[in-house]
Amino acid sequence: MPVKTTVFGYPKIGPQRELKKALEFYWNGKISQVELMEASENLILNNAKTIAKHGIDIIPSNEFSFYDFILDLSVMFNVIPERFREIENPLERYFAIARGTVDAPASEMTKWFNTNYHYIVPEIESNTEFEFIENKPLKEYELLKSSLNFKTKLVITGPFTYLYCAKVKNTEYFLDKIAFVYESLLDELEKNGVEEVQIDEPAMVLDLDKNIVNSIIDCYRKITANLSRMKIYVQTYYESLSAYEKLVYELPVSGIGFDFLEGIENLENISKFGFPKDKALIAGVVSGRDPWRTDFKEILKLIGTLTKFTEKIILSNSCPLIHLPVTIKNETFPKELSKILSFANERLEELTILKTVINEGKEPPVQDLSMKFVHPDVSEKVSQINQKALHRKPEFAERYKKQMEILKLPLFPTTTIGSFPQTTELRKARADYKAGRISLEEYENFINNEIKKAIEIQEKIGLDVLVHGEFERTDMVEFFAEKLQGFAITKNGWVQSYGSRCVRPPIIYGDVWRDKPLTLKETLYAQTLTKKPVKGILTGPVTILQWSYPRKDISKKEIAYQIALALNEEVMELEKAGIKIIQIDEPAFREGMPLKKAKVNQYFDWAIKSFRIVTHEVKPETQIHTHMCYSDFNDIIEKIYEMDADVISIEASRSKGEILKAFEKFRYDRGIGIGAYDIHSPRVPQVEEMIEIVERSIKLIDISLFWINPDCGLKTRGWKETIASLSNMVKVAKIIRREA
Ligand code: GLN
Ligand code: ZN
Repeated sequence: MPVKTTVFGYPKIGPQRELKKALEFYWNGKISQVELMEASENLILNNAKTIAKHGIDIIPSNEFSFYDFILDLSVMFNVIPERFREIENPLERYFAIARGTVDAPASEMTKWFNTNYHYIVPEIESNTEFEFIENKPLKEYELLKSSLNFKTKLVITGPFTYLYCAKVKNTEYFLDKIAFVYESLLDELEKNGVEEVQIDEPAMVLDLDKNIVNSIIDCYRKITANLSRMKIYVQTYYESLSAYEKLVYELPVSGIGFDFLEGIENLENISKFGFPKDKALIAGVVSGRDPWRTDFKEILKLIGTLTKFTEKIILSNSCPLIHLPVTIKNETFPKELSKILSFANERLEELTILKTVINEGKEPPVQDLSMKFVHPDVSEKVSQINQKALHRKPEFAERYKKQMEILKLPLFPTTTIGSFPQTTELRKARADYKAGRISLEEYENFINNEIKKAIEIQEKIGLDVLVHGEFERTDMVEFFAEKLQGFAITKNGWVQSYGSRCVRPPIIYGDVWRDKPLTLKETLYAQTLTKKPVKGILTGPVTILQWSYPRKDISKKEIAYQIALALNEEVMELEKAGIKIIQIDEPAFREGMPLKKAKVNQYFDWAIKSFRIVTHEVKPETQIHTHMCYSDFNDIIEKIYEMDADVISIEASRSKGEILKAFEKFRYDRGIGIGAYDIHSPRVPQVEEMIEIVERSIKLIDISLFWINPDCGLKTRGWKETIASLSNMVKVAKIIRREA
């Protein structure tokens, strides 16, 4: 039987970030809703055309989203928080849930599995009633059918994964409840001629207990009960499918999709338990997540093995292509690098090549995928550090006391997370410098001037620990990748992080080392302008690794240690130059955690150790901070503790103080600042709201350890609301100090 190809999760933002531009124009009132709709239709049509042009057989649809596909489902199923219900215009309401309004805070946003894509958490209460009120997928299906005459495969996120994303406690109960809206949706799709639906269930790769597995199967029986012709494929990714035997044989669907790249146990399971004759096997064999060119020989061998178990094979990507930029065509990498890279469009080409080779019995094209970009000293240093204990001396209590005396900080010290507003003028200066319109000197003067203004503003507001503002950084990872050796940077390699926000993940292609200072100049300049301590700010090793594409020839642990050693040099120089507080941001600390429990401890071992490599040698007087945000930290609080940072600032306002529950169980007796307000909303937080968060927190945390700060950096905000918000925050500290 000839193999076919399909794809899913093709990047939504467009090759030139068209979606970002349209959204931001719309939010700023520069284009109308009708124009935004037109822009979105163009994107939908162009993406489908690109996929078809590259020879893919089964074209996906319902891949577009104005913000996030989980929020799309919430709106379709009427899971709309009470506080947004009075907004009449559906699109306005949709954006309000994601971004908040003057009156209503946004819903929580968190990371999608172990990726840097973020979704809006559905607010499901114990009495939530689902209702099928809008068929968004069908609209997109019909658009592609009427405009391009494509009969597409609809892609939606499945009930189990949706509920997992909603963080419901009683999953079995809700699976039972949500089944009928999925059932109505699928019925309506079938009535309208849809022939294939892919239901994404990445949550099926998590550790599943028996009862859950049974409830999932029951739920799928219900949602597919009335279907007669329509084919349903369940797609899993990011790891191997759990409860393989039961799910593969009992799910009442036409096919199951596997990630054969990250889910190495999938192949073992197929070999052990076989594969049902009545189902198609969707083989995820080209990566949606890393940019390394597919090794055809290796993959053909894998497919060869699969054909021993089934004939019905559809070739696909391993996981959504959203994690990759659109194409390498517009990049100017050195040749030895570009020959080993593939982004989303190149994945389409690879699938078509694989298909042709298999169906026509041809030889695969000759490939040279070798890469060697090593620095002789780096691996030696890594093996040395591997032996070391890395304990900071003395223990926290003693050193914290010393630090606070030297720093002369009041109770409830106030600070920010690092970045300050990146204004249009700043972006213009950067673009002018890049294009050669202004000199390096002019650019640096501009940055210094911004730093100066920021210091003045912070002094005036009355903050206790100041920052230089990160004006020289476009992005907290890209900035370091540009300065360190071993990284390649893209020009157009944009990947969606959330909503309209995109990042350009750097590519780690060789050994990482530091041949020049990274942050010294700006930090030291800021410190000359004030008597208050200026905090040096670095991005941590795990986050730099996690938000870059790692090389494949050495382990992640090894790469993290290489980065950590480079950052350690920077920390030591900052300290030597008189900087007394150094913050190592690790917002991706949780994100790097493996999805299977059995692999978790090993990860934390090296993740914690890399943080300690960066910080272990500083003097007791030097205060080490870290910062984390937009993930669930509750179940890893003990691991965070082991990083042995003196102070952590942690986001909590968007997850509504959820983190506090962790402190009820675990005594966190180190410095801590719980995000006092949500920086993603343009809304200025009121003093009372912040006092409430602080008061709740200090019931669980010793007041001598408590810091007050926003929940993340302020670079996406404007100056006006930033000054207003921080002034309120400082007021909060003053009030609380009086009460203490
Ligand atoms: N220091 C960074 C900033 O303030 C931290 C950003 C982050 O946590 N994502 O922008
Ligand atoms: Zn943050």
